[in-house]
Amino acid sequence: MSTVNSLDGRVAVVTGASSGLGEATAELLAARGAKVAVLARRTDRLDGLVERVTAAGGTALALGVDVTDADSVHAAAARVQDELGTADLLFNNAGVMLAAQIGDVRADLWRRQVDVNISGLLNAVAAFVPQLRASAAERGVADLVNTSSIAAQNLFPTFEVYCGTKAFVTHYSRNLRAELGAQGVRVAVIEPGIVRTELQGHVTEPNAVEWLDETFKTLEVLEAADVAETVAHLAALPARVNLERVTIMPTAQAA
Ligand code: NDP
Repeated sequence: MSTVNSLDGRVAVVTGASSGLGEATAELLAARGAKVAVLARRTDRLDGLVERVTAAGGTALALGVDVTDADSVHAAAARVQDELGTADLLFNNAGVMLAAQIGDVRADLWRRQVDVNISGLLNAVAAFVPQLRASAAERGVADLVNTSSIAAQNLFPTFEVYCGTKAFVTHYSRNLRAELGAQGVRVAVIEPGIVRTELQGHVTEPNAVEWLDETFKTLEVLEAADVAETVAHLAALPARVNLERVTIMPTAQAA
């Protein structure tokens, strides 16, 4: 299948686009021809991304948004509609990974993960599904890709809350697919194994930090670009094809 400009005419929205998987995916979608709205809190990073996309001949719109603020996500959806057109691809990807020993009772850490990974993801679904439905009605299919993790299926001590939020994302996505597929909105959930991004930099629990450091030393982990290729591939498939759950592992990572 040719991938050159395979997303011409598409209007894509990427949350968590200021670094890591979101940033790489936004750049690739733009390089393949999509107009891309990039959402995150760090607008300086988004502005840099827009500059690079524009310099490469693409179109991108930076929207400073905290996904936990539903009003702000809805306002962003209105700007996408007005300035780029009706969205037909949502890469719903913003997330945070934190770790704590259960005895430390870090309610601040679990609240942040539930707020961003679950409520933030739901806010984006609520704000953009009307546009995805309208696009699907017009062009035959639209894409909603949620970022989960292999943490949805596996056991990682001290990351219990993160694993729980990602289990939610996977099961929610599969149920959402059952509702939206009949309306032409193709829902997929991706479950990457370990990718070197800024995600791990927020982890402070010593055992978790040691485990992550050891993993990076001993494994050839994924790159953000590998996930970006997967998302671009999903979105370019024929309308009848829906890869509903895609697990992307570093070849050498067991679980
Ligand atoms: P990064 O830390 O590089 O990116 C996280 C992104 O989420 C940033 O752009 C950040 O932007 C954004 N974000 C965080 N909180 C908010 C918020 N409240 N509102 C808006 N945006 C927010 O990590 P990754 O790229 O690795 O993570 C992307 C997704 O991939 C996450 O859902 C993560 O759980 C998942 N994942 C990552 C894996 C890995 O090994 N890296 C493996 C499996 C899944 P900003 O701070 O500017 O708001």
